[in-house]
Amino acid sequence: MKTVVVVGGGITGLCTLHYLKRQAPSEEPIRYILAEKNEYLGGKMHTVHESGFIMETGADSIVARHPNVLELVKELEFESELVYNETGISYIHTNNELHAIPAGSTFGIPMSMESLQASTLISEEGKKRVLMDAEIPNNNFTKESSIGDFLEYFLGKEIVEKQIAPVLAGVYSGDLYQLSLASTLPYLVDYKNKYGSIMKGFEANREQFEKAANKKFISFKKGLSALIDRLEELLPEVEFYKNTETTSVKKKGALYEVSFSNRETVQADIVVLAVPNNIVQKVLNDPELNPNLNKFTNASALTMYLGFDLPDSILPADGTGFIVSHNSDLVCNASTWTSRKWKHTSENGNLLVRLFYKNTSPRYEELAAMTDEELTKVALEDVKLSLNIEEEPTVVNVEKWIEMMPRYDLAHKEALDALLVDLDAKYPNLYIAGCSYFGVGIGACIENGKNTADKVLKSLAAF
Ligand SMILES: Cc1cc2nc3c(=O)[nH]c(=O)nc-3n(C[C@H](O)[C@H](O)[C@H](O)COP(=O)(O)OP(=O)(O)OC[C@H]3O[C@@H](n4cnc5c(N)ncnc54)[C@H](O)[C@@H]3O)c2cc1C
Repeated sequence: MKTVVVVGGGITGLCTLHYLKRQAPSEEPIRYILAEKNEYLGGKMHTVHESGFIMETGADSIVARHPNVLELVKELEFESELVYNETGISYIHTNNELHAIPAGSTFGIPMSMESLQASTLISEEGKKRVLMDAEIPNNNFTKESSIGDFLEYFLGKEIVEKQIAPVLAGVYSGDLYQLSLASTLPYLVDYKNKYGSIMKGFEANREQFEKAANKKFISFKKGLSALIDRLEELLPEVEFYKNTETTSVKKKGALYEVSFSNRETVQADIVVLAVPNNIVQKVLNDPELNPNLNKFTNASALTMYLGFDLPDSILPADGTGFIVSHNSDLVCNASTWTSRKWKHTSENGNLLVRLFYKNTSPRYEELAAMTDEELTKVALEDVKLSLNIEEEPTVVNVEKWIEMMPRYDLAHKEALDALLVDLDAKYPNLYIAGCSYFGVGIGACIENGKNTADKVLKSLAAF
């Protein structure tokens, strides 16, 4: 009997097993083991229920339009549990005021003249500069270029700094000038090349974006962990080793010896490492891989929830949260008005807000060293300044994601290609997977689980 060990019980590891189970040949029984360090599965998808509030300690939702997402939900017969976000106005907090991100923009990039004209974030000069895009030819930029350089070259510095960077950097955890178009919005290059200007490209593809603008994100009635629980429930043939840290993976002839912190070792024919890059590095402990493994870097963030015994209706009308730009006395980088955006998160319609403090903040080092009580004080001050609320919260949740958010900088693709070549040569039937390598969004992780299952199936067929 062949043994497949998946290390890491996040969405990628679970989806690898889900797709394996659906396609694996039934003639020969296969032993499946999933080893997870925590006592719960899900990794960065983890829901906490407290005092009538539902809080997501990591990811809070899934982009619905990724082709694999709703397909998976359907395969799991879980559609009845789906919830969609309420759409509303997102703001940028700048000069100590909230300014709406204009309707008809994607990641702050205006998709029409009306959207550009409606902006209260940029000057008339800045707007004129955006329109010059139509006259500037693209001679140099490709999908491997930096998205910051690309947008600034064609749309001008002001709109990038005041309207686009706050939104994009929030989504992709990084400095726009260090992120490639390929790893963010590759279609912008196609728009520029095909239609002459980015805005014309958006106009030509308007339908697709309008459709997406409505029900953009999904979650589940009981939170994202419900999806994880459902995946687990439908994998009865898998041996789940929870609370079990994998300490090393060693090649022994044609097999792999996988060692766990609190169990005997297991001999595996196939290993999937669906864990962050630093864990791959640690368990393989192979200096020859380090030049490439060292090239993957991570960002950090502290996230906090504050729940209040106050009606959510005290929020600004139609608002769903804000991103902080320059000239603001707020310490946070962004805030989601969670109970407004996600009705299922507040049983009694009480106010639940989430605040994000990222390592790009000038005060990050100081914040990261704070106790939960000290951080709560900072967060309460931010709530007071942004929403004029001075009440004590009834619920507080603090989460520190230190060096846990993969940063897809310009070195990423080359490092990954080289790493995959090294692994293929030295570690046959061992596969890396997950958010450190193949995309951070949950949709990308689901897709990567599917692709990893295909690789495992090929290995199984070749024995
Ligand atoms: C604060 C935050 C907000 C986010 N928001 C969103 C969002 O709204 N939408 C979105 O699409 N994405 C979001 N993301 C990204 C998304 O959550 C992740 O990219 C995705 O969940 C990663 O899944 P994964 O399975 O690849 O990795 P992980 O979830 O990191 O899973 C890896 C698993 O491996 C386990 N593990 C680690 N070491 C070992 C070991 N030695 N032995 C055994 N097990 C081990 C871990 O405990 C973990 O369970 C967010 C991430 C964070 C941190």
